[in-house]
Amino acid sequence: MHAVPGLACPACRGDLRADGESSLSCQGCAAVYPILDGIPSFVPAPTPTVADELPGGRGRDTYDLTVVIPASRQASHLDRLLPALQRELRSLEISHEILQPAGSGYGATLRIGFEQARGEYILTLDADGSHDPSFLTAIWAARHNVDVVIASRYVPGGAAEMPRARQALSRTLSRVLRRGLSLPYSDLSSGYRLYRREAVAALELHATGFDILQEVLIRMVAAGYEIREVPLRYRALGTSRAWLARFALSHLKTFLAMWKLRNSIASADYDARAYASVVPLQRYWQRRRYQVITTMAARSRRVLDVGCGSSRIIGFTRMVGLDIVLAKLRYARRYGNPLVHGSIFELPFKDSAFDCVICSEVIEHVPADERVFSELERVLEPGGVLILGTPDYDRWRWRALEWLYGRLAPGGYADEHITHYSRANLAAFMQARGFTIERVDYVGGSEMIFALRKATGVVAPRPLPVAAGLRSR
Ligand SMILES: [Zn+2]
Repeated sequence: MHAVPGLACPACRGDLRADGESSLSCQGCAAVYPILDGIPSFVPAPTPTVADELPGGRGRDTYDLTVVIPASRQASHLDRLLPALQRELRSLEISHEILQPAGSGYGATLRIGFEQARGEYILTLDADGSHDPSFLTAIWAARHNVDVVIASRYVPGGAAEMPRARQALSRTLSRVLRRGLSLPYSDLSSGYRLYRREAVAALELHATGFDILQEVLIRMVAAGYEIREVPLRYRALGTSRAWLARFALSHLKTFLAMWKLRNSIASADYDARAYASVVPLQRYWQRRRYQVITTMAARSRRVLDVGCGSSRIIGFTRMVGLDIVLAKLRYARRYGNPLVHGSIFELPFKDSAFDCVICSEVIEHVPADERVFSELERVLEPGGVLILGTPDYDRWRWRALEWLYGRLAPGGYADEHITHYSRANLAAFMQARGFTIERVDYVGGSEMIFALRKATGVVAPRPLPVAAGLRSR
């Protein structure tokens, strides 16, 4: 975990001390906060997660590794595969169990395996193929700092010896999914994978056929988990026409459902992908916003982004990112900056901890509440810059765009804009709080971004009910 500058207990603002890798405790009020996937979390978990309730739930790793061999791959070659595998595992000194779940269908038995596993990691492999013995060493060595390692036939160093029809199908499928679902991996149908159990146990999986191989990856990407590929030299030992047909059909069936999830705002990398979107307006919007905000923040040294999401703004300089959605933070780990899972209503930072606070596309998503503004102001030092961005609902262009967007993408961001601001009322409100407006830039002539300087002296608190300046729907 990164040390997070300025961190403090959100309840009492006391100092926090790390208790190993898994939690922080407050020196003031003794509250304990978990560290989830390396990210300090100040958002109370509503209910225990699925992983906690499973027999082999969190913190119950009995083995280093559980090997799961799914049903329809438990072909006749298992008697040859198992002794070789166990020899390899022993030579690598990996404590392990081997599960061959009973049930019908590849996906269904794989899911049973995920639930029953008691290893810290889960290895899945095919019993109807043969592989280079060194594959286990390579996949095991690649497990650090990622959540799933795919042994891939289609990366440099990998190879596949398969009947021509199967190879063509497998390659085509990987290409279609790679483009159609923006999954930047080469081998999406390889059954040779190493999963971190805690990551995979938390997923809600539904596929019963071979399509589970894609479903599990898409749900992992949506939850912000990391995926890595290592080369695999693979030889198929037997493939029937019936097998090929089942393989192709199961993928076609769920492609659409997966497409929807992949392109929804529920996917952790939504904001990051928008930057490279094929839709020109969306691409322009993200890049213009990035340019405005990074220019305004350029001279600051201690920057906080409240509601950072997975946007690449979090990567532009050394800074701290905070968000309420853990999946987006997991994704944002790749930018290498310290991250905090927390709420804008109770920021877990000391007073005046930052000289620049960014809050872009957040305040329209939360109820009109004075605490939002007092918290942003509190963690900002006197004379510091608040960069505040939100749609300007006095601009007809924004209202038209949002109407259109709501029609084109139901369930998208448009439905989540619950509080509407305009330039006039937001400016008056912030000035009454003692801020000076340094500049206002627009994205697409409708999203306003303020650069606001906090007063250096004490501003007499001027009661201004939020509702007087703002309207909420
Ligand atoms: Zn405390």
